Amino acid sequence: MNLVIPAAPPVLVPVDGGGQFPVRRVYCVGRNYVEHAQEMGFTGREPPFFFLKPADAVVAVADGETGSMPYPSLTQNLHHEVELVVAIGQGGRDIAAADAAAHIYGYAIGLDMTRRDLQGDMKKQGRPWCIGKAFDESAPIGPIHPKARVGELTSGRIELKVNGAVRQTADLSQLIWNVSETIEHLSKAWALQPGDLIYTGTPAGVAAVVRGDLMEATVDGLGTLRVGVR
Ligand code: MN
Repeated sequence: MNLVIPAAPPVLVPVDGGGQFPVRRVYCVGRNYVEHAQEMGFTGREPPFFFLKPADAVVAVADGETGSMPYPSLTQNLHHEVELVVAIGQGGRDIAAADAAAHIYGYAIGLDMTRRDLQGDMKKQGRPWCIGKAFDESAPIGPIHPKARVGELTSGRIELKVNGAVRQTADLSQLIWNVSETIEHLSKAWALQPGDLIYTGTPAGVAAVVRGDLMEATVDGLGTLRVGVR
């Protein structure tokens, strides 16, 4: 190989029990809990929709550690969104919901950090959300827990505290489009590959964080993801 510039290093997320998960793409689902859709001004069960973050937006936080992310540029309104993340181990296209579980390697807790003011401006103008969603270090994530160890996650509490106060709380069973249905829809639009992550959407209660805040995200069975804003 004769690289003319340095290649980007692989993006790796630690796996609970050992090993590293190499990240290829980061897909995100918009408005996937009813009360969050309502707080964003929408009602009803619309088809799922997707956006992406670059793989190198991932900030991997090892078990037991407190990670950190910088307060990003250009925004006055950085929001937290706690989400269940699905890690794809086996690729495919046009995957039926009934077959989706076989494509899942594992699960993690993730934060879909959002420059809400910039996202809002882009929405109003009918422009892409990238500047609001896909900025550097916008995707903190905890260790990936293999499905072989934790089983298939279809219910369980998902919660986010900021400085000890609960901001977001729901149950995974309240997802509008569950994980299997999400994989069915997503794999019609893109061929999924090993290494893909899917941030499955956030419950109600999204709100701002500022420098010095500590976010503590939990999903039953997946431990706690701690991230400070610096
Ligand atoms: Mn989100």
